[in-house]
Amino acid sequence: MTSDLEIRLQRYADAAVRGGLNLQPGQRLMMIGPRITGGVSPEATTLVRALTESAYRAGAPLVEVLWGDEIQQLLRFRHAPAESFSQFSAWMPNALIEHIEGGHALLSIYANDPDLLAGVPAERVSAMQQAASRGLQQFSELIGKNRTNWLVVCGAAERWAAKVFPDDAPAVAVLRLWNAIFQMCRIDGGDAAAGWTRHLDSLVYRSDYLNQRRYRALRYRGHGTDLTIGLPDGHVWVSGRSVSAQGIAFAPNMPTEEVFTMPHKDRVDGIVRSSKPLSYAGVTIQDFTLRFAAGKVVEVTAGTGESVLRSMVGSDEGAARLGELALVPHSSPISQSGLLFYNTLFDENAASHLAVGSAYRFTMKGGEVMSDEAFAAAGGNRSMIHVDFMIGDAALDVDGERADGVVEPVMRSGEWSVAI
Ligand code: ZN
Ligand code: ZN
Repeated sequence: MTSDLEIRLQRYADAAVRGGLNLQPGQRLMMIGPRITGGVSPEATTLVRALTESAYRAGAPLVEVLWGDEIQQLLRFRHAPAESFSQFSAWMPNALIEHIEGGHALLSIYANDPDLLAGVPAERVSAMQQAASRGLQQFSELIGKNRTNWLVVCGAAERWAAKVFPDDAPAVAVLRLWNAIFQMCRIDGGDAAAGWTRHLDSLVYRSDYLNQRRYRALRYRGHGTDLTIGLPDGHVWVSGRSVSAQGIAFAPNMPTEEVFTMPHKDRVDGIVRSSKPLSYAGVTIQDFTLRFAAGKVVEVTAGTGESVLRSMVGSDEGAARLGELALVPHSSPISQSGLLFYNTLFDENAASHLAVGSAYRFTMKGGEVMSDEAFAAAGGNRSMIHVDFMIGDAALDVDGERADGVVEPVMRSGEWSVAI
């Protein structure tokens, strides 16, 4: 018997494979995850199988999956020798690199427990994370350059659902999380893949429009916010769609709501107040403000987590400057859900946001081939960190200042001023 949930999982899988990944006939598909913590969530398994079916229907000759196991990972932290956490085995990155260089597609499924490592000694976690980033560096670079079409999606699992819906029974929480995922990914109504493609198109129209305006600065006004952000000459507005090295158009994140670009690292002035809590280094930083002068954070206040926020912006020279600004309308489904997902893919798409730390090279014209010095001279920020924080809500107004000094509305009360 096919349940309602199974039907919607299949629609979600179709939207991911055709609308997001845009899997081409002849491309193999490799899936990574989900990492499941014991117990329930057979639906995450059902999702993997639905994705497999969609991929074969799209013309894949071979579909494979690398399953993860969170309990097995915890057992390592509990029982492996203390000095062993810098070890990282090479077979997986090697297999992934071979897969990518063969022009095949990659899909990651997140269903992770946000609190999995809460009780694990921090030095073991950071040793493992460092070993993983080193071991995966070449793979990450290929992905960063879009060597092939790739996609990250989410699946509901019990531990994650319990964190988002702490008052519900496990089965209810999992179902509510699935419903939230489906809503964010717009899979209900008509052809799910076509619906997702239409949404991506609307984001592209928006970034095209903003690129054509060539604003030299944006002015933000709202609850406790009065901030002017200069935009460098040659800044590029980007939305959720990318093109792979083989020329395949794809959208690497599902859901995605943002259009974003690069602030000028030396031309940010005024004060900005957060609209949502920021989870960083295992601490929740709430109700905080950052004051900027000539691009740099000069004053920090926070209701909770102020010392963590201070040390975050003090991480290195670039950590006290902005590397990204993103606009997301307040009416977007993630924002309207009012939920905190403890998951970057969702929470960073929930509201207009800024990021302290490094700027993306592709948000500046020719940025990928500039020397570090030329990139910095053009206004691009560099840092070891990149941390997004939410500033958008129903009270946010944004104006764009054009090169001739004319100021025009971009957002009013959290919504786009100009219909596209
Ligand atoms: Zn962003
Ligand atoms: Zn970001």
